[in-house]
Amino acid sequence: MTIFEAVKSTVTPRMAAEHFGLSISRNGMVCCPFHDDGHPSMKLNEDYFYCFGCGAKGDVIEFTSRLFGITALEAAQKLSADFGIQTGKPSVLAKLNRHRTQAENERLCFRVLSDYLRILEGWMTDCAPQSPDAEPDPRFAEACHMLEYVKFSVELLTEGTSEEREDVIKNLLKDGQITYLQERVKRIKEESNEQI
Ligand SMILES: [Zn+2]
Repeated sequence: MTIFEAVKSTVTPRMAAEHFGLSISRNGMVCCPFHDDGHPSMKLNEDYFYCFGCGAKGDVIEFTSRLFGITALEAAQKLSADFGIQTGKPSVLAKLNRHRTQAENERLCFRVLSDYLRILEGWMTDCAPQSPDAEPDPRFAEACHMLEYVKFSVELLTEGTSEEREDVIKNLLKDGQITYLQERVKRIKEESNEQI
């Protein structure tokens, strides 16, 4: 189970809104935090939110990511920490990654990020909505959320000073983010192989 799935199956948009201090009416309506809303126009459903004022909608991760201006992954990590969600035992990859040298870490981060970047760039074009009101493909949404961050990190790892590279790596190793991405890339590759 990914951190996204674990969070979504545990935390409803309503639970998150409550947790972040928004005041919710008895019928699950709340003043929309994404537009200037004087009267509650956002409905918090079991697995998504929808604003009748500005049309904002999405799942609990989208809600949190927009509320705090953070990426989907950061939002999932925040929710998982705030609600004490366990995403399973540390995997074999996580255990291996604990014993790497700085140079190995740098190579690992670069390899995983470059792979992920190629996948995201593919999705950005291949999974783009065909019409303005088409339901967005989750892969396209992931590409929109992650592309700039991943691209920037790869650039820093390629052209940055040694300090910048160290910073990128430190951030990626923190909370096992690189392990998460490594497993994500592995799974995407397996899934696309299955489709062939
Ligand atoms: Zn709104």
